[in-house]
Amino acid sequence: MKKTAVFLLVLFLRGQNFIWPLRPFTALTSTFYEYRTTHFHSGVDLSTYGKTGLPVRASESGEIFRIFYHWYGFGRAVYIRHPGGFVTVYGHLVRFEDKGLGLERLLKNLQRSTGKKYIGNYYLERPIRVRRGQVIGYSGSMGIGGPHLHFEIRKGEIQPLNPLLFLRAPTGPVVLRSYILEVASPGSFVGLSPTRLYGRLPENRKIPVHGCFRFFLQGYEKCRGRCGIYHLEAYFDGKKVFDLKGDRFQFSRNYTAGWFFNLALSTTKRPYYVIPDFSSPPLCIATGEHTLEIRGTNFYGKTGRAFLRLYHWPSPLSLKGLCCAERWNGQGWERVSGEIPDRGYIRFKTSAGGFSSPWIILYRGESLKSGESVKPLRIEAHVGWEKAVFPRGFLASPLFCQGECFAVTAPGRGNLVSRGFSFKIEDSAPGIRVKMGGEGFPGIAFLRVSTLPPQKVPEELLPISKFYLLTPREALLKSPATVEIRLQEKYRRDIGIYRKFSRKWSFLKPSRSGGWLQVKTKLLGTFVVARDVVPPQIGRIRIRRGIIYVTIRDRGSGVNPEAIRISIGGKGFIPEYDYDAGLAFGRVKVPRGRHLLKVRAEDFAGNSSARSVWVAGK
Ligand SMILES: [Zn+2]
Repeated sequence: MKKTAVFLLVLFLRGQNFIWPLRPFTALTSTFYEYRTTHFHSGVDLSTYGKTGLPVRASESGEIFRIFYHWYGFGRAVYIRHPGGFVTVYGHLVRFEDKGLGLERLLKNLQRSTGKKYIGNYYLERPIRVRRGQVIGYSGSMGIGGPHLHFEIRKGEIQPLNPLLFLRAPTGPVVLRSYILEVASPGSFVGLSPTRLYGRLPENRKIPVHGCFRFFLQGYEKCRGRCGIYHLEAYFDGKKVFDLKGDRFQFSRNYTAGWFFNLALSTTKRPYYVIPDFSSPPLCIATGEHTLEIRGTNFYGKTGRAFLRLYHWPSPLSLKGLCCAERWNGQGWERVSGEIPDRGYIRFKTSAGGFSSPWIILYRGESLKSGESVKPLRIEAHVGWEKAVFPRGFLASPLFCQGECFAVTAPGRGNLVSRGFSFKIEDSAPGIRVKMGGEGFPGIAFLRVSTLPPQKVPEELLPISKFYLLTPREALLKSPATVEIRLQEKYRRDIGIYRKFSRKWSFLKPSRSGGWLQVKTKLLGTFVVARDVVPPQIGRIRIRRGIIYVTIRDRGSGVNPEAIRISIGGKGFIPEYDYDAGLAFGRVKVPRGRHLLKVRAEDFAGNSSARSVWVAGK
């Protein structure tokens, strides 16, 4: 944006007089528009230096019109409406302000009247007026993340704005750290690799490229830790090919996070920007030398730059059809030329447009006839193969499976061909069905279902289906896909569908129809049906200053916070539960004498455990 436009925007916004909700201002630990797995970060995170209980103040005068309370998301949150249609949000509070505002009492009343511990969103019948700087709650770590304060300024309730448009906060320089170049069309090569090239910035080498590619950038703005980059641009031979600027967005556009960030590679603190974004065509070069320039600018105009010099390289591989057939001679593999051998152990690769497939190993005791269907004995994965990117229309044969599944780029509908001799690789039909809407799907590949060899899962889980990989894992769908997996055994209560996404398995509660289990999901990845056979572990129980703390963990389906019960002398309650910390806590009063204190916990699969300790009241 030009300087004059920034100036006009500042003028427009200056009617407001927001202040930081923590006094004195601490530090930013996250910026606006940062990557989160399923959305953009809609505010800034303020450091509380690992502590909880810091007074949180109204950023501007207004009225509290909404509160939120749940064990996930923002935990405890306050929403204030201000003149001019602005709304501020304060998340992860450990406690609402009660003395003056009565918000804890309001929460208790709502819990009593609804019969629910976690009330979710509540719009106040009579909004409560607050002055700028008035304490509205205390910082905590409820919901997602450790101790910090999540703060937002919104225009209305659906458009978050960058708080730095109103408030100053020091942010550091932009660091452009490393990159991955990935091929984006068949037959392409980057740095002579048919899949990916990893590099650090600054990059002094000139990189040979053939065909089309995308550039995944890992970079950040220095804050207290790493923050998202306020404004990131990329220019290919001087032409702008990427522009992502964090001033404002609409919540309805959250699914586009899957366009600008590579979900399969990113973590919250190490995101990979996708250049050009997945909704745009990749960059292609056919001749000559080219430059990709990356510019990352922080809110105060400080720019970090990186350059990549690329030059066209003719395709190093131009094999067609079947290549590299080999036969086991008892001691080793020997190359065969001409016809495919039709008996014994045979392995071969197939190739199209420069990609060659994994080794496919067959055993045949009798001769193989042309046109026959064959199940491969084994498929040896090709390094990097699984991560190769296939654009729409590329795959001649989507996949075949025998334990492992792979896409094969054999010319001609799924057949491996060699001089008029062809046979078909069988696709063992997997017990999975996927229905999805098109919107939000990044334009990099079409849905592919493959079965995987058994994967490592947490010990608590007992897989009872095949493992299915749904790609592209990069997808963040606008409307959720329905994934159905056939149930091979009798249904039990402890059965769930688990999805692995960036190394973590999460439990998805399935619904059941006939012999199928069904879940809805916005993220693809690896799916399996599993039983959770281990109840939660109840660890240390301690009481300090009238508050009980109990460690409860479950690495299977996870602790169900709504099913935790702590009772003493027959009187019970549901404690608060900090999900990340695995810590249940709540105020208890131990009556005089010795009493049995009981803790009961349940996981989402319905397994329960209990633990009792004797406590003494004074
Ligand atoms: Zn936040």
